[in-house]
Amino acid sequence: MAVLDQLTSQQAIDLENKYGAHNYHPLPVVLSRGEGVYVWDVEGKQYYDFLSAYSAVNQGHCHPKIVNAMTTQAQTLSLTSRAFYNDMLGKYEKFASEYFHFDKLLPMNTGAEAVETALKLCRKWAYEVKGIDENKAEIIVCENNFHGRTTTIISFSNDPVARKNFGPYTDGFIKIEYDNLQALESALENNPNVGGFLVEPIQGEAGVYVPSEGYLTKAKALCEKHNVLFIADEVQTGIARTGKLLAVDHENVKPDILILGKALSGGAYPVSAVLANDSIMNVIRPGNHGSTFGGNPIAAAVAVAALEVVRDENLAENAYQLGVLFRSELSKYIETSSIANLVRGKGLLNAIVINDDEESDTAWNICIALRDNGLLAKPTHGNIIRFAPPLVMTEEQLLDCVSIIIKTLKQFEA
Ligand SMILES: *Cc1c(COP(=O)(O)O)cnc(C)c1O
Repeated sequence: MAVLDQLTSQQAIDLENKYGAHNYHPLPVVLSRGEGVYVWDVEGKQYYDFLSAYSAVNQGHCHPKIVNAMTTQAQTLSLTSRAFYNDMLGKYEKFASEYFHFDKLLPMNTGAEAVETALKLCRKWAYEVKGIDENKAEIIVCENNFHGRTTTIISFSNDPVARKNFGPYTDGFIKIEYDNLQALESALENNPNVGGFLVEPIQGEAGVYVPSEGYLTKAKALCEKHNVLFIADEVQTGIARTGKLLAVDHENVKPDILILGKALSGGAYPVSAVLANDSIMNVIRPGNHGSTFGGNPIAAAVAVAALEVVRDENLAENAYQLGVLFRSELSKYIETSSIANLVRGKGLLNAIVINDDEESDTAWNICIALRDNGLLAKPTHGNIIRFAPPLVMTEEQLLDCVSIIIKTLKQFEA
């Protein structure tokens, strides 16, 4: 079969099964095209995308402005490595630093790399600025976190599937309960070796857990009191997804270290970044850290375009308003439902909890039925379904989606 031959869905699935490592369990749908809030499968069926590649495609599929920036730059200069300067990186670093109000940016490619970068930055700061004894620094993390898949990051995961048989693990992490200020205070008290607190402002992968109001503000204050860096992983929650530019903006919290990825490129290209002010970022010196592709000219051009789209199209405001509508429409239905227990979230990062245990396949079967009804979503943690459409959605489209979701849930009511 020639590479350019049009495959059927089944042929494409069979190829992945036979020749690809089985490190994912995809919903059986094979996509070949996307535009805005829609994707199409190889047979031409149209769907609303309610995952947005885990919130990477906030700006909508194949946004013309982002595609144009990418193709123009790809035809001009794609990669120099950081052995030389290039004429795009500095412009991007200035633009993004001002956009997010930090002194400096360190460019990487994937979310996991940016988290690794933040951890290294935090440790180096802990030794060189805070004065912690060599190899003694600790970083506080939360239970049920998701920060990516590297060896160090899974070392402090408590997901057995992500961890088991990947040891030995990296030391230096203290795990506390999420949304528990008392636990944070106890971990900080009488421990001069803590350098940072790494937290997701909303735990996305865990099932869209929104912490209590005031949690982030008070956690930041505790970190300040103990001279500990507050590190926000906004790879999923950032860039307008939750109805503000950053999820920490809901509580006016300014992180010491900000981690971005996913929608930083609008899903067009792997682009991630760590932002911090000079007092922290300046501990990084030549040779300490790097990446061949990090900060390449295509990434720089794409990220500037992607951030301009977020601002010019008021995506945070749109996500905020549509999110309020989505939760109120679904809550009305859920009051009368025996299959769905609740809807929660912020902006357009939402989830419904299905009335069944975590091991059941009800949520998976609902996602198959949603697919058949023209909407793509995926269960996270068994009985939770995450709903995260592109933020370029209109109110009319959103209400259409709400009616698809309700119609589908009705098929499962007892
Ligand atoms: C997706 C995600 C990551 C990892 O990003 P990758 O690009 O998949 O490596 C890290 N943190 C959070 C909160 C994420 O949602």
